Amino acid sequence: GFIGSHLCESLLRSGNEVVCVDNFATGRLANIGHLFDYPGFELIEHDIVEPLPAFPAFDRIYHLASPASPPGYRVLQIETMRVNSEGTRQLLEVAEANGARFLYASTSEAYGDPLEHPQREDYRGNVSSTGPRSMYDESKRYGEALTFAFLRTRDVDARVVRIFNTYGPRSDPHDGRMVPNFFTQAMTGQPLTIYGDGSQTRSLCYVSDTVAGLIRAMEQPAARGEVINIGNPDERTVYEYADAILTITGSASTTIFTEPAVGDDPQRRRPDISKARALLGWEPRVSLDEGLRQTYEWFLTELSLVNERDT
Ligand code: UDP
Repeated sequence: GFIGSHLCESLLRSGNEVVCVDNFATGRLANIGHLFDYPGFELIEHDIVEPLPAFPAFDRIYHLASPASPPGYRVLQIETMRVNSEGTRQLLEVAEANGARFLYASTSEAYGDPLEHPQREDYRGNVSSTGPRSMYDESKRYGEALTFAFLRTRDVDARVVRIFNTYGPRSDPHDGRMVPNFFTQAMTGQPLTIYGDGSQTRSLCYVSDTVAGLIRAMEQPAARGEVINIGNPDERTVYEYADAILTITGSASTTIFTEPAVGDDPQRRRPDISKARALLGWEPRVSLDEGLRQTYEWFLTELSLVNERDT
């Protein structure tokens, strides 16, 4: 996957051995091709809801397996629910058997369309159990609850991280999310599609910052039994992001306002990261401008490769 490929790379660079498990339902092999240069890297292609293969002994398990883009989890509704429920149970059992630390990658969607702003970890959220995002939001909430059940009853050294919108190189250009859509549109001369009036907000975190937060949350012993927001509090409107991407790409594309996104599109989102600051000594370092520039560099290569294949 997107964040997972950066996480693997960061762990390998620090000299760890890493087993990456992916069924490529939404992940891309191209994201991890370069990781095979590291002797400590191994890929097991597997769907974690199926009976698990014989794994080597692990001392850390990061569970990031799940479709994560709104169009992705709407196509893979039952798969999304299964990977966050049955998949999470299976990995928690592996953690228990190995005495491994466990990190569950949850989401800012656990807060739904929030009525409190910014979102602190103790806010319980405004989530529909049947709405168009429910397969993601509710299965992530179930995954959190299951993680805590294993912590309480089976002594698994677990923590939950709620990841807010993350962007950067290797995020799937075709997964329908805002940043890849806007870059692809700006760089191919199409209008940028703003859903609704563009006044809804998001707070974007560059992927290297997100990954640093995940590793801190895993390695900090005091993070056991904690839920921690990982995200960048720099909140902007969707319209502002479109404008920033037009500026960085130097594109002559226009912006068009289309129908609002299919139901339950959260109107505001910004993490309160006081807990991550205090407990992990973590905060994001990469500014929006710098992060978008790095992302643009990647899209330049990615889109030219696609063009070469097409010609
Ligand atoms: N969005 C948009 N145009 C697009 C894709 C997304 O206006 O082409 C909006 C979407 O409605 C949402 C925000 O951008 O308000 C972020 O959407 P994304 O799918 O990236 O992630 P979400 O935070 O909704 O999971």
